[in-house]
Amino acid sequence: MRFKGDVQETAQACHCTQCQRWTGGGPLFAVRVRDLDLTGAENIHSYAHSDWGDRAVCQTCGSTLYWKLQDRSIAFVALGLLDDQSGITVTEEIFVDFRPDWFPPFEGAAQRTEAEMKAQLAAFLEKENQT
Ligand SMILES: [Zn+2]
Repeated sequence: MRFKGDVQETAQACHCTQCQRWTGGGPLFAVRVRDLDLTGAENIHSYAHSDWGDRAVCQTCGSTLYWKLQDRSIAFVALGLLDDQSGITVTEEIFVDFRPDWFPPFEGAAQRTEAEMKAQLAAFLEKENQT
């Protein structure tokens, strides 16, 4: 599959336990993409991993592709899918309360706990639902 969209140059590392299992260990590194435009979507398997998010994998090779907010055009695409990763920096780590001891924080990256992320998501969804 191929994708296009408005790709941010800042990456997020998610340390939640679902992502640790999904990636095989360590965080999921992802970039935010607005207006995700997929080619080869018939090869994608996607499933709800929570009340608000979907995860997508390649049906052929099992590669981790992205997670996205349900019914919205914002996706967090796995860094490994980018053809060119130059210029990318990790600026945010989320669900840091689940980060394993063996994985040190990125210097200068914002650190957000599960409680902070859930509050941020609730505020975002509330704002989006009003517009
Ligand atoms: Zn996660």
